[in-house]
Amino acid sequence: MSTTSPREINKVLIANRGEIAVRLIRGLKEMGIATVAVYSDVDREALHVLCADEAVPIGPAPAVESYLVGEKIIAAALRCGAQAIHPGYGFLSENGAFCDAVEAAGLVFIGPTAESMAVMGDKLSARRKMRTSGVPVVPGTDEAVTDPGKAQEIADQIGYPVLLKASAGGGGKGMRIVNAPQEMASALRETRGEAGAAFGNDAIFVEKYITAPKHIEVQVLGDGRGHAIHLFERECSVQRRHQKVIEECPSPSLTPALREEICAAAVRTAEAISYRGAGTVEFILAPDGSFFFLEMNTRLQVEHPVTEMVVGVDLVRAMVEVARGGGIIYRQEDLRQRGWALEFRIYAEDPGRNFAPSIGKIATLNIAGGPGVRLDSGVYEGFAVPIHYDPMLAKLIVWGETRDLALARSRRVLRESVLHGVTHNLPFHLWAIDQPSFRDGSYTTHFVADHFDPSTWLPGLADDARTALLQAAVLCEAGRRGNGGDANPAQPPVGNWHRNALRAMTRNT
Ligand code: ADP
Repeated sequence: MSTTSPREINKVLIANRGEIAVRLIRGLKEMGIATVAVYSDVDREALHVLCADEAVPIGPAPAVESYLVGEKIIAAALRCGAQAIHPGYGFLSENGAFCDAVEAAGLVFIGPTAESMAVMGDKLSARRKMRTSGVPVVPGTDEAVTDPGKAQEIADQIGYPVLLKASAGGGGKGMRIVNAPQEMASALRETRGEAGAAFGNDAIFVEKYITAPKHIEVQVLGDGRGHAIHLFERECSVQRRHQKVIEECPSPSLTPALREEICAAAVRTAEAISYRGAGTVEFILAPDGSFFFLEMNTRLQVEHPVTEMVVGVDLVRAMVEVARGGGIIYRQEDLRQRGWALEFRIYAEDPGRNFAPSIGKIATLNIAGGPGVRLDSGVYEGFAVPIHYDPMLAKLIVWGETRDLALARSRRVLRESVLHGVTHNLPFHLWAIDQPSFRDGSYTTHFVADHFDPSTWLPGLADDARTALLQAAVLCEAGRRGNGGDANPAQPPVGNWHRNALRAMTRNT
């Protein structure tokens, strides 16, 4: 149902958890809208629950028994008198059946229609739609392939390497590179098996594998009636396992002409499906400057804050106003990119163990502030990170007037920040932004694979070992200062080891 008459929205249920639930609650509060959180058994004391005006339990920890059960969420919304549901990202955000059920219950779904989700949720149907809308797609097939001989024929035409891709894939899963004809049969069999098991749909297609590309995406807003605007691009080429870890806005790789072209293609994409609300059109940029449609994410994305910082907009407010039927609150001609923003996803994971997720209780959390710094967090000191969900704890977003200034500020903030209790990737970010290809902006999606060596990763040590090292650093520093420095040897530094270690380390880096 497309929203054409004004809908009353003064209470919203957030069908999500973690940092995105907190971000949504904050945005809604600023609009004077009451908020309802939902939570599983392990999230009883989660930050989003503490922030919301009301909170409703929805079942056991596994998401399939709580955050993914649409009926429980809709029942909670009706019971609380909420008029609308915001799904955030992940969980039910791109589930057309949920969207339909929300609207059938007389509630507003703050997001696109189920129809848009259906077209874009399936990579093959999205490719077909884009071809007819004049948006360039990666060379390859528009139909599912089951026969290895046929797949080889297509690969011969487009040239190796090719990528076998699950039509229903997502989150970087369901993809396999094929470098030579003899690899095709087994690769096809394995990708189909994996896709069937993971997505309940084993449709696979073949597309050209673009070597050393960049991931560029464009934020769009649609009014649901055929008009859309863009809010410029983001670059998200720093990825591990095809998943993003650092994003920036603008992209250091676009000329003004290319930016205009890619943003126009994104608007065409959104308008072709009369898109409603906030969405992202993802492209792959080849080294020769040609770009191709990858997919459209029909939801608010993790990395939306870099756009908010640079373009000076509030995408959550924009989504709510579209859902109310008021149309798009921004005019294309008023929008500009101002300055530069970087987002660092803070994951409970160990870069030294191939980014494996880690768990634990957050013992110390002190992410530095200062001008141009935004923290979107879903955790607090004392919170036990549950194993059941995505290991992203928070996002650190840093803005500066230029890319160099944003990088200098990021370095300062990352060095000052302290997180103990779980193994995390803050040191990875510090490492990444000082790599030559990151500094000059030439990095590609191969950045981590090409430059990161887990076997020599010292900060990947377990927390206890790291603490011991920090304490040793403090004692060394105290000893150094004791020999002619101004430290008072009568006062052992151990009580302040944490602060002193930070000082000592900052001085040396
Ligand atoms: P998902 O839906 O799983 O996120 P995408 O199609 O958006 O999958 O691709 C995720 C990432 O995989 C891209 O950002 C890029 O790094 C890589 N990728 C996808 N398609 C190609 C391709 N044809 N050539 C090279 N890399 C690709």
